[in-house]
Amino acid sequence: MREISAVLQEQRQFFASGKTRELAFRREMLLRLQRLINRNEQAIFAALHQDLKKPACEAYATEVGMVRAELSHALKKLGTWARPRRVRTPLAQFPASSYLYQDPYGVALIVAPWNYPFNLALAPLIGAVAAGNCVVLKPSELASATSTLLARLLGEAFPEHYLAVIEGGIEVNQALLEESFDKIFFTGSVGVGRLVMAAAARNLTPVTLELGGKSPCIVERDANLDLAARRIVWGKFLNAGQTCVAPDYILVHEEIKDDLVRRMVQQIAQFYGADPAQSPDYPRIVNRRHFDRLQALLQKGQIVTGGTAVREDLYLAPTLIEAVDWQDPLMQEEIFGPILPVISFATLDEALQIVEGQPRPLALYLFSNNRKVQRRIMAEVSFGGGCINDTILHLANPNLPFGGVGTSGMGSYHGQASFTAFSHQKSVLKKALWLDIPLRYAPYAGKLKWLKLFLR
Ligand code: NAD
Repeated sequence: MREISAVLQEQRQFFASGKTRELAFRREMLLRLQRLINRNEQAIFAALHQDLKKPACEAYATEVGMVRAELSHALKKLGTWARPRRVRTPLAQFPASSYLYQDPYGVALIVAPWNYPFNLALAPLIGAVAAGNCVVLKPSELASATSTLLARLLGEAFPEHYLAVIEGGIEVNQALLEESFDKIFFTGSVGVGRLVMAAAARNLTPVTLELGGKSPCIVERDANLDLAARRIVWGKFLNAGQTCVAPDYILVHEEIKDDLVRRMVQQIAQFYGADPAQSPDYPRIVNRRHFDRLQALLQKGQIVTGGTAVREDLYLAPTLIEAVDWQDPLMQEEIFGPILPVISFATLDEALQIVEGQPRPLALYLFSNNRKVQRRIMAEVSFGGGCINDTILHLANPNLPFGGVGTSGMGSYHGQASFTAFSHQKSVLKKALWLDIPLRYAPYAGKLKWLKLFLR
C-alpha cells in the first residue's frame, strides 16, 4: 500500500477534475459495482464463511442481497436524488426562486466493522459513489478474509485515485484519522466513535456515526407469543448475535414470561437442532478475544438453555439467561453475541422506566397488538429505529433511514438517506433582475412599517 497522503492527494485532484460530478460516471461506477458483486457472489460467500462461518442463505439475506437491493434502488433513483430541488420562496423575497443543489463533499472516508463486513463496507460506499465522492474505504481487520477480498475486487475494478481500499487495524485507522477528509462515515463501537468524532473535530469534518448499545425488546401481555418467540430468536441468533441491532435483552410481562421462554427454547431447537454446534446454519464468534469476553458474561445469572462454549471452535450456543442483575457486566455492556437475558416486568411503566434509565438505544422492538401500547411507546421513548411485532427488518426498507440517536449514533443512511449522508445541500436563492424593491436599502426613513408588513 502506498502512502495514505499520496492516495489522498490523487483523489483530491481527481475530484477537482469534476469527473465524479457527472451523473453518467456515477451510474457507470454503480453498475461496475453491481457487476462485480454478481460475478463474485461465491467468493463473497466463501469469505464470509471463513470469517464468521456464515451460512450462504444468511450471508445473502443480510449482506449480499441487501447490498444488491441498495444498489438497484440507487441506480433507479439517482437521477431524482441528484437533481436540484426547487423549494418555495417567501413573498418578502419576490421576485426570486430557490433551489437545493446536491453537492458531493469531496473525499470521503468509510470505516467498517467486522460483523457484517461486506454489507457495512459497501452500503455506505453506494451512497458515497451515488453522491459523487471519491472514497477511501477501510474494512475491518477482524474479518480478514472479507477485507482481503474487498481490497482485491475493488482494487481490480476501480482506480485508486477514485476508490482506494486501505486494509489494516487500529494503527492504520489512526493514521487515516490524522488526515483531513471532507466526510467521515464510521460504523463501530461507541468508544471508537468518540475517537473518530474527536479526530474529525480537528478539521471540522462532518461525521455519520453508526454505533451500538443495548437494544431492548419489549413483549407485552397481549403479544402473539409464537410469532414473538420465532422472530426474536431469529433476530437474536442471526450471525450468532453479533448484530448491532440484535435484541440485547428481553423485557417481558411477568404473566407470560415462562410461556415465552418455553417457546423460545423450542424455537432455538427448531432452527438449529438439538445441538446447534452441528448445525450448518449457526455462525461462530469472530475471534478468541470476543469469545472470552462473552464467556465471562455468563458467570452471573441462571442459564435456561445453551451456555455451552467450545473455545477452539469459537462456538457459543444460543443462550437464554434469567435472574440477571443490572449491576452484572452482562447488563452493563452491549452483549454483541448469542446471549439473551430475559427480564420480567409487572407494568409497562416499569418496563419504560428501565429502558429510559439506559442510554438511548440503536433499536427497540415491541411485541404487542395493542394500539394504545404501540402509540405510547412511539410517542414517549427515544431510540434509533425499530419494529413493532418483528426484529431487525426495519434495516431492510430503503425508505426508512437507518441510524442511532444519542450514544447509539448520529446521522443515518440507506436509500436516499445514504445519498444525503454524502452530500452537502447547497441552498441557493436566484433573484430576478426585472424588479428591485428598494425597501431594504438605506436611507431607511419611513420603511420600517412596510418591512413589518412583509416580514413576519
Ligand atoms: P470497533 O469500534 O472496534 O471497530 C470499528 C473500526 O474501527 C474497525 O475498522 C477498526 O479497525 C477501527 N478501530 C478499532 N479500534 C480503534 C481505535 N482505537 N482507533 C481507531 N480505530 C479503531 O467496532 P467493531 O468491534 O468492529 O464492531 C462492533 C461494534 O460496532 C458494536 O458496538 C456494534 O453495535 C457496532 N455496530 C454498529 C452498527 C450500526 O450500523 N450502527 C453496525 C455494526 C456494528
